[in-house]
Amino acid sequence: MVRRRDFLKALGAAGTAAGCGPVRRESRRTEDISSGQIVPGTMTCRKDTSGEDNVSLLGFGCMRIPVRDISDLREGEKYDQESFNAMVDFALSCGVNYFDTSPRYCEGKSEEIVGKALSRHDRKSYYIATKMSNMAPETFSREESIAMYHRSMEYLQTDYFDYYLVHNVGSHENFKQRFLDNGILDFLAAERQAGRIRHLGWSFHGEKEFFDWMLDCGTHWDFTQIQLNYIDWQHASGFNVNAEYLYGELDKRGIQAIVMEPLRGGALARGNQQIRALFKGKSPERSVASWAFRFAASLPNVLTVLSGMTFMEHVRDNILTFSPFTPLDEEEKATVQQAVEAFLSLSVEGTPCTGCKYCMPCPYGLDIPELFLHYNRCLTEQTLPPSPEDDGYRRARRAFLIGYDRAVPRLRQADHCTGCRDCIPKCPQRIDIPGEMLKIDEYVEKLRAEGGF
Ligand code: SF4
Ligand code: SF4
Repeated sequence: MVRRRDFLKALGAAGTAAGCGPVRRESRRTEDISSGQIVPGTMTCRKDTSGEDNVSLLGFGCMRIPVRDISDLREGEKYDQESFNAMVDFALSCGVNYFDTSPRYCEGKSEEIVGKALSRHDRKSYYIATKMSNMAPETFSREESIAMYHRSMEYLQTDYFDYYLVHNVGSHENFKQRFLDNGILDFLAAERQAGRIRHLGWSFHGEKEFFDWMLDCGTHWDFTQIQLNYIDWQHASGFNVNAEYLYGELDKRGIQAIVMEPLRGGALARGNQQIRALFKGKSPERSVASWAFRFAASLPNVLTVLSGMTFMEHVRDNILTFSPFTPLDEEEKATVQQAVEAFLSLSVEGTPCTGCKYCMPCPYGLDIPELFLHYNRCLTEQTLPPSPEDDGYRRARRAFLIGYDRAVPRLRQADHCTGCRDCIPKCPQRIDIPGEMLKIDEYVEKLRAEGGF
C-alpha cells in the first residue's frame, strides 16, 4: 500500500411498443403542465429504422434503482424492489416502453431487479435493452462473455433481447480484446441472425478515430448509444467527443442514436442559481431537467433518450416532458445556448463524473461518485466565495464541510485514496480519479485548516 504522504509526493504538491401511440406533434396545454397532469396515451414514440418498433422517446435507464432506507436494509436487499416495481408500473401505464440495463449496473443487481419488475407484465408491452459488459479483464474470455450473455437472459426472464449493446467501447485495443480475439462479435451477430437479439448496437465513450472505424468496420449496427447533452454537443471535455460530430456521423449513415447522459450525470438537472433562474424565468412550470431532455429529443434521428430515474418524482416529471413531446423552438434554443454559456463561464470546472459507478468498489473504500457529486455541486453553485475576506465566506465554508461529512462518511473520503490507480481503466470518462481525489483532499484540508470547524 502506498502511504498517503508518498502518494502526495509522487503526484507533486501541484497535483493538482405496445401501448405507445404514433409520433405526436401537438403541444401540450400549459394547464396540463402546470397542474402536473399527465394526459394518458400521449407519450411520444418514434419508429425504429426496421419499422417494427414504436419506441417511447423517453427511455427508462435502470442504472440508478432506488435503495432502501438504511433503517430498512434487509439481508441482501439493498435495492428497493417494491418502489422500483411501482415506478415501472407507472411508467408502462404512461407509455414508456424502453428499459435499459446492464450486468454492471447497481453492483450487478440491476438486471435481476428489472427482470422481476418487467416479468409481471406482458413481454410484448416493453423493449429490453441490455449489454455485453465484459469490461473487467477476467470476463474477456469467450466462455465468461457467453456466460454473461446467458445470465442476462436468466435475470431478465426472457429468451430474446430487443436491443443488445456492445458496452462502453472506445479504443481499438479494448475492442479487440473484448470482442474480436474471443469471437464474441461473431457470436452476437449469430444471435441476431437466430432472432435472439432483435437489434445489435454499441455504446461509445472514447476516441474519435475509433468511433469512425466502428461505423465503417463492416459490422451492420442497428443503433448506437452516445453521450449527448447541450454541453457535450459542442463542448465535450476529457475523453469525450463532441456529440454534434457523433450524431452527425450516425445521421449520415442512417443509424439511429440512443442518447445517454442527457443530464450529464445530473448536473443539467441541478444547474446553478443563474441557470435555474434563466430556465424558470422562461417557463416556470417546467423543470430545469426538462430543457435538457427536450434539447436531446428535438434531434430527429434520436430513437430514445435515456433517463436514470430513482424516484417517482423523476418518472412523473420526465413523463410530463414527453407526453406529448414538443421540440424546442428557436427562442427556446437560444435560451439553452445562454445556459451553455453560463456553464462555460464557471471559473472552475468540475469533474465530468456522470455517477455511473463503474469505478466502484474502490479497494480502499472511497465513495468516488459521491465525492465528485459534492465537490462539483459546490463548484457549479459557486457557494464558496474565493477569498476568506469575502462576505459570507465563513458560513459557506462551514456549510461545505458539514455537507461533505454528511454526504460521505469520514472513512470513505478523499484523504483515504492511496493512488493505487485501480479505478482509472474502469472510468468511461477517463477521469484521473486519484489526481482529482488529491485536489478534493487539498481543498478540504485547506478549509479545515482555516479553523473553527
Ligand atoms: S486510486 Fe482509485 S481505486 Fe485507488 S484508492 Fe484512489 S480512488 Fe480508490
Ligand atoms: S469517476 Fe468515472 S467511473 Fe466513477 S462514477 Fe464517475 S464517471 Fe463513473
